[in-house]
Amino acid sequence: MHKQHLIDPEICIRCYTCEEQCPIDAITHDDNNVVVDFEKCNFCMDCIAPCPTGSIDNWRVVATPYSLDDQFAWDELPEQEEFTEASGSAAGASSVVEALDDEIERLLAEAHAGVGGRSVAPASASKPTVNLFTRAKPAIARVQGNYRLTDENAESDTRHIILDFAETHFPVLEGQSIGIVPPGEDANGKPHQMRLYSVASPRDGERPNTNNLALTVKREPQGVCSNYLCDLKKGDTVAVTGPFGATFLMPDDPTATLVMICTGTGSAPFRAFTMHRQRTAPRAAGHLRLYFGARTPEELPYFGPLKRVPESLMTQRLVFSRVAGEPKRYVQDQLRADRDGLAPLIGAQNTYIYVCGLKGMEEGVEAALEEIAAEAGLAWADLKSRMRQEGRLHIETY
Ligand code: FAD
Repeated sequence: MHKQHLIDPEICIRCYTCEEQCPIDAITHDDNNVVVDFEKCNFCMDCIAPCPTGSIDNWRVVATPYSLDDQFAWDELPEQEEFTEASGSAAGASSVVEALDDEIERLLAEAHAGVGGRSVAPASASKPTVNLFTRAKPAIARVQGNYRLTDENAESDTRHIILDFAETHFPVLEGQSIGIVPPGEDANGKPHQMRLYSVASPRDGERPNTNNLALTVKREPQGVCSNYLCDLKKGDTVAVTGPFGATFLMPDDPTATLVMICTGTGSAPFRAFTMHRQRTAPRAAGHLRLYFGARTPEELPYFGPLKRVPESLMTQRLVFSRVAGEPKRYVQDQLRADRDGLAPLIGAQNTYIYVCGLKGMEEGVEAALEEIAAEAGLAWADLKSRMRQEGRLHIETY
């Protein structure tokens, strides 16, 4: 029985930091994946702390180690293989697992001590900090990785960008945005305007207890800031303002049901919400429901990792409008299809509705919500204003 160090291909952003850190060249990559060579890895753990995502923290107990070619071919990590009594290896396996757990626990604690930025915990879970950094005095973050989320053949180029704030205290809550000031001047010789981007990671960092955050950025044709961001390289510095936003926040109440409706990069805050729930209250009584629209699966950001969020935590409805041979479907179509399940939720005091994405989605989504409210015997106009007053309806479109 062997313990094997592996990298999760669905979380890894291919920044190759681990490969650069490895003192014995045990980490390598091809066009598909970054992998650890079982024959070389000596568990020195130098690669662990610098990883911005935590994809490096994966281990399996194996009878036969996975080869480099096995790992290069993976789209996702294999499950821990089962060892049966019949194979005579169950007892051996569990003792290896225990020893492995202890050892990794110890080594990770050592590896994380004092490295990778300081641990960040917001002063208050419920009160967001806003306008801490301004255009005149921005926070300077460093790019830890810039990874294309959408398929190479997809029309849209959407990226997962991780910014490290090192020693700078930049507290964010899920649902907040940050401002980015692209360098340079516009056609009139004035400094470029700041643009807003939703934070796509939870308050304790893209990787837990790390002073970094993630953005989901779509490259707009000839767009100034989105092209600036999408072209950033690892190690580049970025001027950041904010944080911004004091309303589009998630309730702390773990019994709250969250209905999250989004298209494209509108998924960013919901990724943060989901990760926060998963990290802090994975068995919360409140349920998450995600309605996520894209043209094709290839253009849906975070398609792979989403598959791994358990149904017990979140019901997922992924809806596509441009799949060849299939009818066009939009998030509002799926809301209507789920009317029986949504009608009891929409009137419940513990339900929170969030809509995020392109401006164009608002009208269709609202029309569907109005129909569903009617199904529950509720007038949408009244319900809407009540929910808004109670902080249970949030719409952020751009
Ligand atoms: P701009 O330069 O401002 O151009 C605006 C538009 O005009 C673009 O669509 C561009 O294609 C078009 N355009 C510009 N020049 C030309 C030209 N010469 N010819 C033809 N067309 C042209 N975006 C995200 O990607 N992710 C997020 O998480 C996100 N969150 C947001 C949160 C909030 C609260 C808000 C308000 C906005 C958010 N946005 C987000 C949108 C983001 O702020 C920017 O508006 C977006 O990235 C486009 O900025 P840009 O500088 O690239 O485009």
